[in-house]
Amino acid sequence: MTYCEVAVEIAHESVSRLFTYRVPEGVALAPGTRVLVPFGARKVEGYVLRVKDGPGDVPADKVREVLRPLEEYPALLPGLIDLAFWLAEETRCLPVEALRLMIPAQMRGGRVRVKATQMARLAVAPEALDAAMDSQKRAPRRLRILEALAQGDQPAARLRAISADGVTKLVSQGIVALYGAETLRRPYAPEADAAPEPELTEDQCRVLEEILPALQRGEGRFLLSGVTGSGKTEVYIRAVREVLGMGRAAIVLVPEIALTPQMVGWFRQRFGESSAVLHSRLSAGERYDEWRRIRRGEARVVIGARSAVFAPAEGLGIVIVDEEHEQTYLSDHHPRYDAREVAQRRCAAEGATLLLASATPSLKSFSRTVPTLRSSLGPLTLLEMPRRVLSRSLPDIEVVDMRGELERGNRSVFSRPLDTALRECFARGEQAMLFINRRGYSTFVSCRACGKALRCESCDVSLTYHRHEDVMRCHYCGFEQKPPETCPHCGSPAIRYFGAGTQKVEEAVRQRFPGVPAVRMDMDTTRGKDGHAKLLDTFRRGEARVLIGTQMIAKGLDFPRVTLVGVVAADATLNLPDYRSPERTFALIVQVAGRAGRAEQKGRVIVQTYDPEHYAIAAAQRQDFRAFFHTEFERRRRGLYPPFTRIARLLVEGRDAKKVQGVAEALYEETDAFLSANPRLKRQVVQMRAMEAPVKMIRGNARWQVFLKLYARGPTQAVLEKLDECKLHVYDNVNIYVEVDPANMM
Ligand code: ADP
Ligand code: ZN
Ligand code: ZN
Repeated sequence: MTYCEVAVEIAHESVSRLFTYRVPEGVALAPGTRVLVPFGARKVEGYVLRVKDGPGDVPADKVREVLRPLEEYPALLPGLIDLAFWLAEETRCLPVEALRLMIPAQMRGGRVRVKATQMARLAVAPEALDAAMDSQKRAPRRLRILEALAQGDQPAARLRAISADGVTKLVSQGIVALYGAETLRRPYAPEADAAPEPELTEDQCRVLEEILPALQRGEGRFLLSGVTGSGKTEVYIRAVREVLGMGRAAIVLVPEIALTPQMVGWFRQRFGESSAVLHSRLSAGERYDEWRRIRRGEARVVIGARSAVFAPAEGLGIVIVDEEHEQTYLSDHHPRYDAREVAQRRCAAEGATLLLASATPSLKSFSRTVPTLRSSLGPLTLLEMPRRVLSRSLPDIEVVDMRGELERGNRSVFSRPLDTALRECFARGEQAMLFINRRGYSTFVSCRACGKALRCESCDVSLTYHRHEDVMRCHYCGFEQKPPETCPHCGSPAIRYFGAGTQKVEEAVRQRFPGVPAVRMDMDTTRGKDGHAKLLDTFRRGEARVLIGTQMIAKGLDFPRVTLVGVVAADATLNLPDYRSPERTFALIVQVAGRAGRAEQKGRVIVQTYDPEHYAIAAAQRQDFRAFFHTEFERRRRGLYPPFTRIARLLVEGRDAKKVQGVAEALYEETDAFLSANPRLKRQVVQMRAMEAPVKMIRGNARWQVFLKLYARGPTQAVLEKLDECKLHVYDNVNIYVEVDPANMM
């Protein structure tokens, strides 16, 4: 008799342990197989995590039997089961919540079906074919069917087009047999032939000389700091090829879907059918099928967004994280994992190399390359590519002080230097990109008489005006309303549209440069799987001369004819209440500047700002990552921000603001008392009093927070456990969340 331990698909604290089941007679179940099991009066899905000979300490007559396996193969690789347990510990989620990340969401609850095509084959032996044909000589269409099948198996539909009756007859006579064949849905069409491989630059060679021996040894953690246009992708490709040559697999993480068309294109050119793509915009079926191609080992190069770090690639040789500074690597919902740390854990466990890369590395990663700054994540080896390929120069960045423009009476979106530069760029027949860090026509609408902005009634944020639809929309809850004729606060008709969203920039381009075709790329124009790719193609083909976009165009795109980049409002990100604002602003400017002058012509970048002296903007202007790093690092040290501390917050939400405040204050008292009772811990923590969250209300729920900074090298675990305990307090109509190093602090 065989037994197994199953993690059941119920995300509740009370069932977080494993349950023992009997394996049915004649069924072989390997760990990692998903099964259907009886649970109380229900049938639930579960994951077999262990197989054993006896029922353990459960009385044998109490043990129930597995109903059936859900797939005929283990959906989870052994390494991924271990990873799930590590993740559950690390992010303080339930094991089953971590296990769920390891399979396509659609697989749960049997919501995806294998797509099968009915095929036909000859049911007679080859030597009996002549006799079979002979028997049909009065029926020319049946003969044609048999002739087709003599060439090989055919889709039944194709043969039915010749004669449906004929197929039925032949099947009933036992000459032809039908069977189902799985077809895999492929999200991308095959790529055209690969461009010739470039000869590596000196920098690329040097970097690969460090990476390749590490690949051979199955170790190494690197941070590749390479300026924009230094040819990082080619390094990835060569490293991946080495890995495939060793019979192993590779995962390449990219931050966002906007990046994938180009990156996917390059990888598909080089690796063809052995590459697979995983991201959230694929249809459920496509995603499931790509996942199975990886699981079966047919695809050994996986390219995908954050969650692709869990791809079932067996024999992993390398994980590459492109644009590693991006926030998108932090999951923004429970379980809140950091894909870079998961990648590191997976690499360590599976004997693979980790390669993080960026033109603007995150402060967190870069500090790990400084030997004197010990990090709990361990050191990274720094690799640098300080030059662009083919001795192309980095673009010059000019900073325009918008306060001066205002003084000179220029109230338009474009400063004079940017206006002139655009004019010259178009006159030369070249392309430009205009970058905006917001979406919508105008960020907010406010009243000139009373100064109040129009706000969402159930969220504490201003509404954004969308010109094409002529509506005001809340970006948190989706609430919409027509723009009012008069101010709802004071009744004045002096309503004014503020800010410079993508639509407003598009409008300004139309007015100033009539006849210059523009495409606008933001959340509103790029819905759907191919939304980005289509707009980018229009631009690539030269049908549009200017590309206007939100931050998503700042990443990784490579358009040789772009010689001018304008950053319309560089400080839009600078004043958000988040300690990472300077880091993000610096990265955005450098990244977006990196889109200019990637071919022969030198690029020009114009950055408009109201705060030109800010160190993030000044360092970005010089594209001086190290200078920025040193200033910012000091600021973080003084302000007790990560990486010197870990940030945690207890977030309290509920309908009744008074009650929410009361709970937040009680939680503060409770944690404060806990810390006071443990002086050793208290010295390691800075705790703020309960206060309203920066966004005071979302969907009608009031929000309060208790904010803590924990010294990174102190005993943080004990404090985090205390916070978890607080989360379990039950108050009617109030929810408590614990967030550690949250991606979004609003
Ligand atoms: P990065 O990611 O570092 O910004 P990319 O990988 O996008 O840079 O490379 C920039 C451009 O340089 C691409 O068009 C790429 O095809 C080209 N490139 C890369 N390596 C070489 C090389 N060794 N010789 C010539 N061109 C190269
Ligand atoms: Zn008003
Ligand atoms: Zn709202």
